[in-house]
Amino acid sequence: MKCERCGLELAENEVNTYQGKSLCEDCCFDLMNPPKTCDPTAVSSTLMVRKQLGQTGTDGLSGVQKKIYDLVVQKGRISREETMKALGLSPEALEREFAVLRHCELLRGFKENGVIYFTKY
Ligand SMILES: [Zn+2]
Repeated sequence: MKCERCGLELAENEVNTYQGKSLCEDCCFDLMNPPKTCDPTAVSSTLMVRKQLGQTGTDGLSGVQKKIYDLVVQKGRISREETMKALGLSPEALEREFAVLRHCELLRGFKENGVIYFTKY
């Protein structure tokens, strides 16, 4: 098995499936946490809309986004795996919702000892 993005040779237990692709952990993390500069429009438009609407904190978030946010705040930090389990989300759904939270600068992801965690921004 090879990572579909960088071609790294992977053992079976090292494969991360993300958006239907088999990836090494690093590529998976990269895709989940693209550098903010790669999508400045999404970030600024989300922030601008929130500003216009006078939204701060979790205002304007969907139910699922609020749940993710509350869970992370409650735990201080929580692994991606645990978040998916706790809220019953697929990796794709979690990534979609998390992207919004990241754009609103509420939450961020980081990696420690090979595990992806979410924490407050
Ligand atoms: Zn890779």
